Amino acid sequence: MRKDYYEILEVDRTASSTEIKKAYRRLARKYHPDVNNGDPQAEQKFKHISEAYAVLSDPQKRRQYDRRGYAAIDEFFHNGFPDIFEIFQSAFGDMPFGRSAGRPRGQSLRVEVTVDLGEVLTGTTSKVEYTHIALCEHCQGTGTEPGAQVRRCPTCGGTGQVRQHRRTILGSLTTIGTCPRCGGRGEIVEQVCSKCDGQGVTRQRTELEIEIPPGIEAGRELIVQGAGNAVPGGQAGDLHVRVHVAAHEVFQRRGEDLATQVSISFPQAALGATVQVPTLEGHTEVYIPPGTQSGTELKVPAQGLPHFGSRRRGDLFVRVHVATPTQLTPRQRELLEELAREFQQSADSERSSLFARMKEVLGGGQGDSA
Ligand SMILES: [Zn+2]
Ligand SMILES: [Zn+2]
Repeated sequence: MRKDYYEILEVDRTASSTEIKKAYRRLARKYHPDVNNGDPQAEQKFKHISEAYAVLSDPQKRRQYDRRGYAAIDEFFHNGFPDIFEIFQSAFGDMPFGRSAGRPRGQSLRVEVTVDLGEVLTGTTSKVEYTHIALCEHCQGTGTEPGAQVRRCPTCGGTGQVRQHRRTILGSLTTIGTCPRCGGRGEIVEQVCSKCDGQGVTRQRTELEIEIPPGIEAGRELIVQGAGNAVPGGQAGDLHVRVHVAAHEVFQRRGEDLATQVSISFPQAALGATVQVPTLEGHTEVYIPPGTQSGTELKVPAQGLPHFGSRRRGDLFVRVHVATPTQLTPRQRELLEELAREFQQSADSERSSLFARMKEVLGGGQGDSA
């Protein structure tokens, strides 16, 4: 009868993944065949803890096991159980194991795209063109001329992997690595591919259309899985698309908000006015209340950028700049001078009334009245 996996690893059913790993490591050190001089009982025990660890360290498999017991396990491993030395290596080397473990992975690449604020608003599709290593189309990455003879690699017996003995503090340990003779393919090529010279890969120029969602922040990376460099017998790397946002003439970005500036005249600032303000989609009208000071910021709701992944929009902030005229028509000068006199008079009368009050308070004295 099979023993419960939790019992085998001597952990609670509620054990965390860290506790499970710790327990496995402790037991694996004890029962590894290489530290037990090939004792068959230790080897059996090593197999059991490896199996238990392979299941309980994988959250999905662990859930299935908790629910359905060994019935679920038989389904997971009907294609064969993972190599116990591979499991061992993964637990000590922090590497994943399973079908992709040990398989080479292609390099990931990065391209840059630049969008403008209008494209941040609506989202866009950007074309990127880049050079990468792709599987050879002629041989499908095998490196063998189609139709040519292949034979099983004698070094690894066709598995693509070889066991290596390493001396460690635990003694001599067995680890697995890619077969140096066949490069992990398990086959020896008798006639190399005429297109790629047996490399299995070629350099290729590729054009891709990248969906850029609305509200994208500057510097964000979008990832196209598998669009990086390919590697024969392995998994292609990814393409990272870094998005830049170009500076805008009129608007500054503040997260989801935009900022801009509008110039108004002194009379508009004093009397209040409705002015046109640019937006990303055109323009809108903004009411400037009487007595607005230069530097005041007014908010135009929902005229900013969309929040990433939603339809809600930020606001537009309009900084009011009261412009001082540099050139005046004679009529404007006349009016301004009149206005200046008016200001002067009211300032003087304010001052003289102040003096008058002071005289009253101080009981006489000389004053210059206007
Ligand atoms: Zn080829
Ligand atoms: Zn080989």
